[in-house]
Amino acid sequence: MSNTVHCDRCSQEIRIRGDLVTATMFFQVVPYHVDCYAKDLKGAKTLILNNQPINGFSGNFLTFIAIVVFIVSFFINDETRIYLSILSVIPIIYRLYSFLIYERHLEK
Ligand SMILES: [Zn+2]
Repeated sequence: MSNTVHCDRCSQEIRIRGDLVTATMFFQVVPYHVDCYAKDLKGAKTLILNNQPINGFSGNFLTFIAIVVFIVSFFINDETRIYLSILSVIPIIYRLYSFLIYERHLEK
């Protein structure tokens, strides 16, 4: 596994964490420069590119909510707990994946 992260749009290396945006596209986690992400969001890819980044403050906040929902789902005693736990575990997995595959290799 390579330790360098390359932008999905311009193929240049992303060196620092502050310049990295990870987002989901067709259930895949893709890395972007902050600028490239903004450009792709305005372009044709906007239909398939999730406009909610996985990393950064809003992504971390959503992950926090997902963890809370995931824990709460264990205290619910009917079939909705299955859906709640599955729905909430997906963003948690994406967040971990984004960190382990991309963010971990970059300088802060
Ligand atoms: Zn780029």
